[in-house]
Amino acid sequence: YWKDKRVLVTGGAGFIGAEIVRQLSCLNIKEITVLDKLTYAADLGRLEGFQNRFSLKKAALENSVSVKDAFRDAQPDIVIHAAAESHVDRSIDGPGDFIQSNVIGTFNLLQAALNFWNEQGKSNQFRLLHISTDEVYGSLGESGFFSETSSYDPRSPYSASKAASDHLAKAWWHTYGLPTITTNCGNNYGPWQFPEKLIPLMVANAIDNKSLPLYGDGSQIREWIHVTDHVEALLLAVEKGDIGDTYLIGSGEEQTNRSVVEGICDRMDQTYLERAPFSGLIKSVEDRPGHDQRYALDASKFKARTGWFPKITFDKGLADTVDWYIENQPWWRQIQAETYNQERLGVIFK
Ligand code: NAD
Repeated sequence: YWKDKRVLVTGGAGFIGAEIVRQLSCLNIKEITVLDKLTYAADLGRLEGFQNRFSLKKAALENSVSVKDAFRDAQPDIVIHAAAESHVDRSIDGPGDFIQSNVIGTFNLLQAALNFWNEQGKSNQFRLLHISTDEVYGSLGESGFFSETSSYDPRSPYSASKAASDHLAKAWWHTYGLPTITTNCGNNYGPWQFPEKLIPLMVANAIDNKSLPLYGDGSQIREWIHVTDHVEALLLAVEKGDIGDTYLIGSGEEQTNRSVVEGICDRMDQTYLERAPFSGLIKSVEDRPGHDQRYALDASKFKARTGWFPKITFDKGLADTVDWYIENQPWWRQIQAETYNQERLGVIFK
């Protein structure tokens, strides 16, 4: 399927976008173009060893002229839209960037795609994959799962901006016929994740003997998926998904925030025997406003359509991920030193 395709990846220097580029690089593809604003969350180090496999257009999605230019230069058969402001805590402090990048940015991308697709004679091979989150569906109680027909109920500025972008992608299909596919997925984890996210943050704090801040009682439940499993699913969604459709991609691996942090501590205990138990560093902090209690996904439609299943169990994936952050301290320490405002994090995580 991928041979001879030209693919435009937005946000290709981000955590998930870089894994998309790495996996595409192994597929004998004609051309990969990465469109990325290179925000604080971007890091081209994630693509070390792959530099010859893609061309980079440094551009912001808010700039409609740059986005049009990127289509003219890349001439994509496939667009994979992974660019977004992605950190919930930052969206609470400063929602403006989320509206610009996620809402206006997606609007500009869809308009440029529509323009390009019309000029190309509305190729029926063209696809635009819009990547989104399960957070658009709001919060679940103890039982039940989100499905493709769940109603939207976003609670944070981040999830509201993602919900808006989902609606835009679907509307451009219904109104203009632009072949979009939308996927919604739970929490991703794995190597190369920006060190403000839960797992890398906790490993970094534990190594440095700092407290491990847990919102409220830590009972919130999230579904966790390894980024390589998620990206395999995304590529299958492009290949096998129906245009105009939505798919939930889920691992079924539900964990409380507390159990994730305890899992990290167990792995740290095995590595740094003399410092065990790391669980002594866990500290409850005031809960995040609007904190959703539980997210869980019913991925049966996607699995039936594509034959996909997750290959990495959470226990194994978490242990390997903790080891990766232990082994790759220079990477995240440099990011902390350069781009990470410690004072600000101090406010968020106390
Ligand atoms: P990330 O923050 O690691 O990377 C985002 C990338 O997008 C960065 O390289 C950044 O420079 C770029 N970017 C941001 N704003 C831009 C703009 N206006 N124009 C051009 N580039 C811009 O994010 P991620 O974790 O890789 O997430 C990728 C996508 O997957 C997002 O749409 C996110 O909502 C979605 N998603 C993420 C998760 C998760 O757990 N990480 C889960 C479900 C869905």
